[in-house]
Amino acid sequence: MVVRLPRDYIIYSFSKRYVPKYRATPGEVVIFETIDAFGGQIVDESVTLESIDWSKVNPATGPLYVEGASPGDTLLVEIEEIKVSDKAVIMVAPGFGALPDKEFRPTVKVLEVAGGKVRFGKVEIEVRPMIGVIGVAPSDGEFPTGTSGYHGGNMDVALVTTGSRVYLPVFVEGALLALGDLHVVQADGELCVAAAETPGEVRVRVELIKGKRPKYPIVEFGDRFSIIAFGEDLDTAAYRASEEAVSVLMRALSLGFEEAYMLASLVVDLRINQVVDPMKGVRAEIPKKYVRLEHLLYPSI
Ligand code: CA
Repeated sequence: MVVRLPRDYIIYSFSKRYVPKYRATPGEVVIFETIDAFGGQIVDESVTLESIDWSKVNPATGPLYVEGASPGDTLLVEIEEIKVSDKAVIMVAPGFGALPDKEFRPTVKVLEVAGGKVRFGKVEIEVRPMIGVIGVAPSDGEFPTGTSGYHGGNMDVALVTTGSRVYLPVFVEGALLALGDLHVVQADGELCVAAAETPGEVRVRVELIKGKRPKYPIVEFGDRFSIIAFGEDLDTAAYRASEEAVSVLMRALSLGFEEAYMLASLVVDLRINQVVDPMKGVRAEIPKKYVRLEHLLYPSI
């Protein structure tokens, strides 16, 4: 029987203080039911931003205890299927997003999703469901689900979609996986601060890699590995993504720093995940033809 985490089983922070009610063994398939990033509070376009309870945004369904996961391991989450609703919501408000200085009307929009397309006024956009928040508990303290870090969290990476594999470093026994914040579609940057936010259902398979883990969350999609770095500003996030990519190339190809740095200029793509969350996100994409997964994972001490 497939483990199913119901959509009222939610957390607003990643922390080891939560006692998990659901457990899975490596290799098992698990379904997470999720509510949208606004906690389902935007039911139609008449909802005002003042009426939203901001303590109820960015919920993540979980946590799930993965049997056998210990600090120093890697939790692999294979995204098998993402089902989204036939309705999505998006909002803009002054002070938020990539253009926080602009003056304009706070606006909420409800978008119809049908036939593999999202309708935005006259424009139709291909559906590409993705997971905004996915992470594990940190070793200490508590990270709100609205931010991101080494543990994952609100990474808003458009590549976290059906068919991708997410590798998360494990910091606590059981890993304590949680996810939510589905987007029917989101472009890199997530400029206005929201995407096509929707409730839904995610089917994943969890696996463990014992005794080694990545420095940052890694997303494997298509022919690439992406290192998901973060920072209070884009420069810091780009620095971290670059530093780790060079280090991975050094290990993969037995290169000195100088050669790996030059090679990174030729084969590593830096891309922006989002510019609007408390931690900005940049990823370094490395083609799989140059590195194997083992080069992205470090033995635990
Ligand atoms: Ca998000």
